Amino acid sequence: MQHFPIFLDLQGQTVAIAGNGEFALAKLRLLLKTQARLTVYAPAPEADLRALIAAHAVTLIQRAATADDLTGVALAYAAHGEAQADAQFAARARSVGVLVNVVDNLEASAFITPAIVDRDPVTIAIGTEGAAPVLARAIKTDLEEKLPQGLGPLARAGKLFRPHAEALPQGRRRRDFWADYYFETGPQVLAEVGEELLEHALHDILRRHLEAGEPQGRVDLVGAGPGDPELMTQRARRLLDRADVVIHDRLVPAAILELARREAQFIPVGKEGFGPSTPQDQINAAMIRHARNGAHVLRLKGGDASVFGRLDEEAEALTEAGIDWAVTPGITAASAAAAVIGRSLTQRGRNSDLRLLTAHDINGFADHDWRSLARNGSVAAIYMGKRAARFLQGRLLMHGADGATPVTLVENASRPDQRILATRLDRLTADLAAAAPSGPVLTLFGLAPAKAAETLPTLLEEMA
Ligand code: SAH
Repeated sequence: MQHFPIFLDLQGQTVAIAGNGEFALAKLRLLLKTQARLTVYAPAPEADLRALIAAHAVTLIQRAATADDLTGVALAYAAHGEAQADAQFAARARSVGVLVNVVDNLEASAFITPAIVDRDPVTIAIGTEGAAPVLARAIKTDLEEKLPQGLGPLARAGKLFRPHAEALPQGRRRRDFWADYYFETGPQVLAEVGEELLEHALHDILRRHLEAGEPQGRVDLVGAGPGDPELMTQRARRLLDRADVVIHDRLVPAAILELARREAQFIPVGKEGFGPSTPQDQINAAMIRHARNGAHVLRLKGGDASVFGRLDEEAEALTEAGIDWAVTPGITAASAAAAVIGRSLTQRGRNSDLRLLTAHDINGFADHDWRSLARNGSVAAIYMGKRAARFLQGRLLMHGADGATPVTLVENASRPDQRILATRLDRLTADLAAAAPSGPVLTLFGLAPAKAAETLPTLLEEMA
């Protein structure tokens, strides 16, 4: 670690910025977030810089800084964007022992300014020792998305409340209290009524947590999306990050499970096609047992929990057992597959309804209103349709569907091994047999890929 990160108290200290143009402007903007006294040395300040200075309590000195000027200054920024002027200013600052940063010149700088995620008083500084500003910005963007905008006011009120929270025993219960405040009730109060009521809310939450006594287990029924971790909701990620026990379908890939806490217990329950599967009552029993032990259970399902996910059965079992539960939606395979082929699931003038259907249910092949499905322009997203392709094809053709109706199959939508098979109804069975997909397949009946087939990694091409 060549550069040691610290947080410097600039209240009442002077910071000098030297430069006339955009570099000085950028530094000034940043430093205006602090409580430092700011002095800008600019012999010929440009209009924007002049305007910003005029709008704030910033001292403007229209000449180059002397060593005397810089004596006792906390930090100095050489921001002319011009090597000679920067070098001169930096030399003067150094001569009186002031730490100086030369914009875009790592070697000449005594310190560097990190990329900052600002949720004052929560401040995250990201540095790469000047090696990879692009990487620092990417990390910053990632954190900006993750951290709620209201984190600043939340943290300010939370900090003042810390002594009260000691009424809760340390560990799980106190953690749950803070998690409730920072991620649930706090942001809600902030959005709906405002910062001034946060303290009041904290007392409420504390009372609730004190009254609740020993932690109750609960179950979150969560859709993990089609497989790409980026397609999970933020809430799903947060719940995964906190769960004690994760009961997951086989559809949920390792890349998502890795996001759970290291200490979490994982229970895989098979639920896929015709393969071996865990009976539903065993899954229910496992959820109930762990929740009764006080665990926060995450029932993680592929796609959306409410689409062919037996959500109601699990929710009913939990209600009967008196266990608190909630649902977090996810991106269902139909949405993911439509996105992959760049098509809309509904379209004015073509189909104003969309069917999500499964080719087989517990009684075998599922029956449908084939006649309306066979109508020109109808669109259906077919789940678990691999083995039932011949049945579907037969029923649809029998009820008058056009053999040339486009059918697109997306295997492993959103995953690294994603493949697309663009075919038509009359060739569906043959093409599917030839492609022999081994992963989950979503069949889009009535839709062809929007992009030219040759730009897509189709199964057929791979075989050619
Ligand atoms: N709840 C899930 C569906 C579960 S049923 C959801 O909302 O997506 C399982 C079926 O979903 C699979 O047989 C397949 O048809 C479809 N499926 C799930 N994930 C998929 C993916 N990444 N790519 C293609 N199909 C997928």
